[in-house]
Amino acid sequence: MLLTSSTHNHTTLCDGKSTPAEMAAAALAAGFTDFGFSGHSCAPFDMEYAVRSEEEYVRILRALQAEYAGRLRIAVGMEQDYYAPVQDRATLDYIIGSVHYLRDGAGRYYAVDGAPEDVDACVARMFGGDALAMARAYYALVAENVRRFHPEIIGHFDLIKKNNRGGRLFDEEDPAYRAAALEALAACAETGAVFELNTGGLFRGSTDEPYPARFLLDALRAMGVRVTVNADAHCAEALCFWFDEALALLREAGFARVAVWENGAFTDKPL
Ligand SMILES: [Zn+2]
Ligand SMILES: [Zn+2]
Repeated sequence: MLLTSSTHNHTTLCDGKSTPAEMAAAALAAGFTDFGFSGHSCAPFDMEYAVRSEEEYVRILRALQAEYAGRLRIAVGMEQDYYAPVQDRATLDYIIGSVHYLRDGAGRYYAVDGAPEDVDACVARMFGGDALAMARAYYALVAENVRRFHPEIIGHFDLIKKNNRGGRLFDEEDPAYRAAALEALAACAETGAVFELNTGGLFRGSTDEPYPARFLLDALRAMGVRVTVNADAHCAEALCFWFDEALALLREAGFARVAVWENGAFTDKPL
């Protein structure tokens, strides 16, 4: 088995449906050697989806890590939103750098992966109806996030496409859209962070392809950037969703290796 771990997984400690114990048991049953938790970092402006207490989160998962010692190496990471930096990074094994929100001048937050109405409101209020301008602002923030916080992993790079099925808001083949995405991609790649091929949108039926899109994968391959595979699982059933297809996609895109989390670091395994 090539993929013996994953690093982007949620639990009931944030907006997931399975408990940490259920996720760890599922990882062990799937034959994983390593398993990383990545709750949404504490976000006072959106308590619905985020970890309530970072301290408690770390304490619970470190206890689980000790319980599983010798059977499954558990890593305690965090999915850090740009607007919700972690309180104590030293207590974590890694962070995933993600952008979920745009914030307007009045301090209102809009979840780009939220309800379509919220995204429409964001386009109308923040960008005067110009959805391409919203996409540009999103990618600028993705690049800023990575430059500023140097996450080990870059989460769902083109999440902004989630609410754009059928080109509802902007044209993903528009050279202006692609240029904004590619510029951010290059800035992120420079930091040496590992990108994830994220299958979570596919599992939840909100996208028709993984993150990132094929033209971005091609650019990553051309730049020699390391890519790992993650399900962004919010329940045990999603743990390895679309993993075989993801590996086939990477091979087809010309990648020779996939980055796999093992014993506290990424290792490159031949595809
Ligand atoms: Zn996320
Ligand atoms: Zn996530």
